Amino acid sequence: MTAERRLTRAILALGSNLGERKGTLQSAVAELVDRPEVRLQNVSPVVTTKPVGGPDGQPDFLNMVIAVDTTLAAKELLAHCQSVEQSHHRTREVRWAARTLDVDIIVYGDEASADPVLTLPHPRAAERAFVLYPWSLMEPNAILAGKPVSELAAAAQDMAGISHAQDEPLERDVAQEL
Ligand code: ADP
Ligand code: MG
Repeated sequence: MTAERRLTRAILALGSNLGERKGTLQSAVAELVDRPEVRLQNVSPVVTTKPVGGPDGQPDFLNMVIAVDTTLAAKELLAHCQSVEQSHHRTREVRWAARTLDVDIIVYGDEASADPVLTLPHPRAAERAFVLYPWSLMEPNAILAGKPVSELAAAAQDMAGISHAQDEPLERDVAQEL
């Protein structure tokens, strides 16, 4: 008999700055939750953000976060996120270069890990407004590293480059998955 695995709440961050960005995010969310082990619990608004790091002259990103409850182990969830990235033809030639889709695990329950293959919480999340700001809109009381994510977002250097993607009402479409 296999023991039933318990559900863990995870926050996933999605970003796209190449191609049909909105369609990519929408199908990525659908693919991420298209298995019984991953249940969509919440969806943030989509924000438009200036690229952080990487080569100059990249297009703006669309970023969003989702909350899922999952019975997958953390590394299984990472493999699943990477298979969804790959289905969008992501290549990894230049780090932080433009990409059709990036999916990161921001937190997995309260698990902490320094493993470079899967660092938890995500090592740069606490300083990335493109993660923190949509997360704070989705869950105003969320806490990361002991601080409200809204406070961390306000202090993040890239906050000035963020705006609401008002012509991209993706969250309404994606919320139908809920
Ligand atoms: P980035 O997301 O930093 O722009 P990549 O998506 O190319 O860069 O990820 C590089 C590596 O980061 C992946 O191969 C993955 O194993 C590792 N990694 C470590 N921690 C995490 C995490 N929390 N979420 C996603 N990937 C992670
Ligand atoms: Mg990544």
